[in-house]
Amino acid sequence: MKENFDFLMPSVNFFGKGVIKKIGDRAKMLNMKKPLIVTDKFLRGMDNGPVAQTLDSLDAAGVSYVIFDGVEPNPKIRNIQAAKQVYLDNDCDSIITVGGGSSHDCGKGTGIILTNGDDITKLAGIETLENPLPPLMAVNTTAGTASELTRHCVITNEKTKLKFVVVSWRNIPLVSFNDPMLELDVPAAMTAATGMDTFVQSIEPYVSTNRNEITDGQCIEAIKLCEESLREAVANGHNLEARTKMVEAEMLGGMAFNNADLGYVHAMAHQLGGQYDAPHGVCCAMLLPIVEEYNLVACPERFAELAKAMGENTDGLSTRDAAELAIKAMRQMADDVHIPRSIKAIGAKPEDFELMAENALKDGNAFSNPRKGTKEEIVQLFQKAYDMK
Ligand code: NAD
Repeated sequence: MKENFDFLMPSVNFFGKGVIKKIGDRAKMLNMKKPLIVTDKFLRGMDNGPVAQTLDSLDAAGVSYVIFDGVEPNPKIRNIQAAKQVYLDNDCDSIITVGGGSSHDCGKGTGIILTNGDDITKLAGIETLENPLPPLMAVNTTAGTASELTRHCVITNEKTKLKFVVVSWRNIPLVSFNDPMLELDVPAAMTAATGMDTFVQSIEPYVSTNRNEITDGQCIEAIKLCEESLREAVANGHNLEARTKMVEAEMLGGMAFNNADLGYVHAMAHQLGGQYDAPHGVCCAMLLPIVEEYNLVACPERFAELAKAMGENTDGLSTRDAAELAIKAMRQMADDVHIPRSIKAIGAKPEDFELMAENALKDGNAFSNPRKGTKEEIVQLFQKAYDMK
């Protein structure tokens, strides 16, 4: 537990049904004359979808804009370079990201190379940015990574297949928008993957070595909301109440990990995502019970508390037995939303595990894991995730 800490999040966060309508006025207040809209082709093509609604609001406020729709999942260096070119060619002065974590991270990465030098690989790590990014707002459409709130920018080097993180307070958007109405049409499999990311992001900060009292409360509340609503949001995407609760969980988990950091689930998931271009939430979900089973001995009392938040009856149980119920509940959640158990499902190959383990231990998320592992132990964890039935 940290006694002295800073607490970071965007200064303005709009939440709730219809808040997307406020973006035009907010762009004007920020003096945005020509923002670059950073998104993907699917979202741009959606009828009355998140991009169309963002543009409607900007049009109504008389703010002009230019669109870059070349974001790929697990955004690549080539995406941020292409977006930078569009920004410069059109004399843009600011950035608005519309989408999930991939759009937000692509927008942040674009901002980073516009003001901090073209080679983003040199900026991987913590607080490496000397200059502010252009003014940035984020319209979020998945629940989700919480990248619309965070200081993290996750980019994949397509040449080395290495996913790396630039962590800086300068990456935090000035304004975030979370309108659950924008998420009603997220397909079930995507709801499950992104929702499991939220679940993991509410668990890892709770056992992180950098946690604090504020983030503890956020994690517990976020876990309860996931337990109440993730299965329902997957089963019935148009249930606005379930979607709304998942957005609340996403924001709480995001605030928690933005300040208490994550652990080996994310450090290892980044290796799977980079190597096999697999959906981030699925990678996290498959690793969660395996990594936390390994972490359990480091802080069993924390896991016993997690079991309670997950709705398990721990009355009369020893701390160890209660803690084990948390691991069981994590596996049950992933099974219920149909996440495959084995990393074979995303094409993982045992011959890659050595290098991935080495890189996982260097990932920015590894340092706050409650148990300090060796490379051999991380290889074993990847192997266990591979052998899962
Ligand atoms: P994503 O942004 O890649 O989106 C997944 C798919 O969902 C895309 O095809 C997109 O078009 C579609 N989609 C998005 N919103 C939709 C909507 N409202 N309706 C219908 N379809 C929609 O997925 P993600 O899980 O949000 O982001 C994953 C990325 O974020 C990964 O690269 C991951 O490493 C990164 N990440 C970043 C942070 C951070 O703090 N910066 C944290 C965790 C993960």
